[in-house]
Amino acid sequence: MPVGTQGTVKAVSQDVLESLGAEIILGNTYHLYLRPGHDPIRRMGGLHRFISWPHAILTDSGGFQVFSLNALRQVSDEGVRFRSHLDGSSHFFTPEHSMDVQIALGADIAMAFDECTEYPADRNRAEESLRLTMAWARRSLGHFRAHCPDVPWSTEMPGRAQSLFAIVQGGMYADLRRQCAGRLVEMDFDGYAIGGLSVGEPREATLEMIAAVLPLLPPAKPRYVMGVGYPDEIEQYARMGVDMMDCVLPTRAARHGLLFTSEGRMNIKNKRYAEDPSPPDPDCACPVCRRYSRAYLRHLVQAGEPLSAALNTIHNLAYYLGIMERVRTQLQAGDPRLASAPAPSWQTS
Ligand SMILES: [Zn+2]
Repeated sequence: MPVGTQGTVKAVSQDVLESLGAEIILGNTYHLYLRPGHDPIRRMGGLHRFISWPHAILTDSGGFQVFSLNALRQVSDEGVRFRSHLDGSSHFFTPEHSMDVQIALGADIAMAFDECTEYPADRNRAEESLRLTMAWARRSLGHFRAHCPDVPWSTEMPGRAQSLFAIVQGGMYADLRRQCAGRLVEMDFDGYAIGGLSVGEPREATLEMIAAVLPLLPPAKPRYVMGVGYPDEIEQYARMGVDMMDCVLPTRAARHGLLFTSEGRMNIKNKRYAEDPSPPDPDCACPVCRRYSRAYLRHLVQAGEPLSAALNTIHNLAYYLGIMERVRTQLQAGDPRLASAPAPSWQTS
């Protein structure tokens, strides 16, 4: 899922995302809540209409940004108090409030409010954080089920159901992760995410946590690993049975001149590309690789031209989406069980 933090996947327009085959994008609840606000978006007909994206949208719970952007946050059983990174104003997020905001945005997939356990965290800290995440998951689910039919578009767009996914936490402790997964599955969410990864831990630990949790998640429901990863990682996790991933890496790296290609990572700023007439990735059929040279992309970065961010982002997104498309095709061809698995409910909307 390309990440559309503030109602936009940075540097590319919605029609370009469509042309690249993106079926779902992610919006960040924390950012949209602060600016322009969930109430204005609701009055504009929800996030889909506001940003003109008639496809699926997943919103995160706001938890991750509250924890990563707010050094002075105060956490209690009730919720989290934090200061806006924009103007310093004080806000209080509870599981119920996170659900209200995500319902108002009209997300196809909302995420339960969780506490993202930092890395490193000792076992006591991870256990305490896990206790909070599970209590908040229960409150999120109760509030979401009671209030998600409130929005006008539930009747305007029949068949567009809002789903709620839970987030498995537990730090880097496999037994805590398994315990969390088991309890969340009992609560019966629409899908399950593995969160709290890619927070600075070694890659083996990420892999170990995913491998510990995946077998406990119901195969008929979407399984989502949050915030990963490099191209080889997302391919590996998809082959392990992960259905969904999101990451700012392809878009953020693109804005810094880093391209992901079939030949590895390419820093397009490098002087060696100054007169290189070949396409960024000779094996890529994206609109950028079909039309432009490495020399031109390098020149755009050097000159500080806005087109640089756009073209680099288009290629990186095409590359990431292409990986997933290839894996999907191979899995469906090689494993009839995967091909016949029921489609998640949001896909039929
Ligand atoms: Zn390309």
